[in-house]
Amino acid sequence: MTSQHGTPDAPVSELGPTGRPITEFPIPTPLGQHGPARIIAMVNQKGGVGKTTSSINLGAALADYGRRVLLVDFDPQGALSVGFGINPNALELSVYNMLMQPRMDPHDVVHHTAYANIDVLPANIDLSAAEVQLVGEVAREQVLARSLSKLAGEYDVVLIDCQPSLGLLTVNALTAAHGVIIPLETEFFALRGVALLVETIEKVQDRLNPVLQIDGILATMYDGRTLHSREVIARVVEAFGDKVFETVIARTVKFPDASVAAEPITAFAPKHAGAEAYRRLARELISRGGAP
Ligand code: ADP
Ligand code: MG
Repeated sequence: MTSQHGTPDAPVSELGPTGRPITEFPIPTPLGQHGPARIIAMVNQKGGVGKTTSSINLGAALADYGRRVLLVDFDPQGALSVGFGINPNALELSVYNMLMQPRMDPHDVVHHTAYANIDVLPANIDLSAAEVQLVGEVAREQVLARSLSKLAGEYDVVLIDCQPSLGLLTVNALTAAHGVIIPLETEFFALRGVALLVETIEKVQDRLNPVLQIDGILATMYDGRTLHSREVIARVVEAFGDKVFETVIARTVKFPDASVAAEPITAFAPKHAGAEAYRRLARELISRGGAP
């Protein structure tokens, strides 16, 4: 195509939702050996922003790329466990026992899923008691880190699906982690509360875990047809710059559908754009060095 002046148009690089040129992240190369894991906490003290959905589906996508993944359900609601068909009320052992019984072997809590390379540490309502019971413990912020250190050698990535709070359990997750992913719902109040979250992360960096870093901000439930969604992303990019993942997750009913089927979307509807989005997020995370 030529312009009015007869000169060829410069190739127009297409811009993605975050306003940056669309990058093709390479297919990750298979790993020659496994572990020790990089530990990532999925955190936002707001509920319903896509923490559990992102833990399940990013985990499943990483597993599809041959990474050994341990998913930690760290929410007493147990939604991640349910997402893999585990009945939280029927658990003999859960993350709660792992935290409260220091002599217990955490391997006894690990649940092998139907999917290759994905294991789950399940949770149920018992975990809500840990928040209170841990307060009196010595080194109460490091309890999860100690348990996970006994498992991390066997995995490439550990993803901790946090509950919607900045309480002691979430501080435990931040203390155990190398990185944090913050999912934000692409809605008007997306950034509300994020300053407090960043402050909490900085306190944990200062006092407990100097290696902790923010791996990325993930925009979820994006609707590209609305000006509103595009404006929200622009605000998030203004606040966090390159920390915002280029990959955004669109709003689609396939995610709740996959939850009802108790399957990751990458298994429930592998060809759906939602599945491809989480595979792309996995590729982006790996190419950023956020996962092996
Ligand atoms: P959180 O763990 O932060 O509370 P969830 O991952 O449980 O959030 O998501 C909240 C609800 O929104 C769930 O019903 C989930 O199925 C749905 N959901 C998550 N991501 C999307 C999406 N991209 N599009 C549509 N619905 C979604
Ligand atoms: Mg959740």
